[in-house]
Amino acid sequence: MQTLIGEQEIRSAVTSLGKQIASEFCNESVTVLGVLTGSIVFLADLIRSIDLPHRVGLIQASSYRGATRTPLKLRINDSLLPDIRGRSVLLVDDIFDTGATLSALLATVRTYEPRRIQSAVLLWKTGKSTVDIQPDYHCFQIPDRFVVGYGLDYNDDYRHLPFIAVLDHRDV
Ligand code: 5GP
Ligand code: MG
Repeated sequence: MQTLIGEQEIRSAVTSLGKQIASEFCNESVTVLGVLTGSIVFLADLIRSIDLPHRVGLIQASSYRGATRTPLKLRINDSLLPDIRGRSVLLVDDIFDTGATLSALLATVRTYEPRRIQSAVLLWKTGKSTVDIQPDYHCFQIPDRFVVGYGLDYNDDYRHLPFIAVLDHRDV
């Protein structure tokens, strides 16, 4: 397994993103909405870098099933969603790949009538998008490699790694 982005590099990018978000959302009623399960580590670090009163909520999206790297049908579970009507929502996900997940999540969240929605992702595999949206904020652009760690999994393993690594076929 090869480290792509180290712990310190992640920490400093997440801290500066938190500062940027705090300055752009000040004087608003903000809910930071993390996408389960991949965003949990990023979410936990990001909210502690946003020096602004805000609420935290969760929504679940799943497309990868079991030991496969091929996306299956996307499922969104909004049963954990708090009341976001009239609030400013920052949707936080781990990675923007084709963008299909973020696009579907934005459509779902919009039905709950927030005042506005912005999106933030830790990683962005540029050039792979199949949708006409882009994340509003991102920490790193990465090449088209399958990565794990800092919340991202392969078959539900490796989420706990404090860094981002490219998965080697010998690791699976
Ligand atoms: P998209 O819908 O943008 O194509 O894919 C987004 C979702 O696919 C992410 O939330 C993540 O669950 C999964 N995904 C895409 N690329 C990777 C990757 O390199 N590593 C891991 N672990 N998940 C990925
Ligand atoms: Mg995900």
